[in-house]
Amino acid sequence: MPDLLVQIDGQTLPLTNCVWITWAPCGCPCGALTAGFGDEAFATEEQAWREIYPTKRERDRHQRQDYRLELMSWDRYRADIDLAKRCPHVKKAAS
Ligand SMILES: [Zn+2]
Repeated sequence: MPDLLVQIDGQTLPLTNCVWITWAPCGCPCGALTAGFGDEAFATEEQAWREIYPTKRERDRHQRQDYRLELMSWDRYRADIDLAKRCPHVKKAAS
């Protein structure tokens, strides 16, 4: 994979140093997708959406519900994001 570079907050980072975070509508992070590894690269938000939610139906539903994606560095991920923490805002949906 060629070294893809991305700009985040004025910093230029290799895509392999980045991760897409899925934010739930309440503001809690609920998922992470490595932005670049091996031959895979998810350089744009659209590519990341397609990887996380392969069907248009899923993407539309989550986007309608105000889920959003944010690209950040692994450093910030390690400092700010704790996916193990339970979301305090919603009761676990009955599935
Ligand atoms: Zn929450």
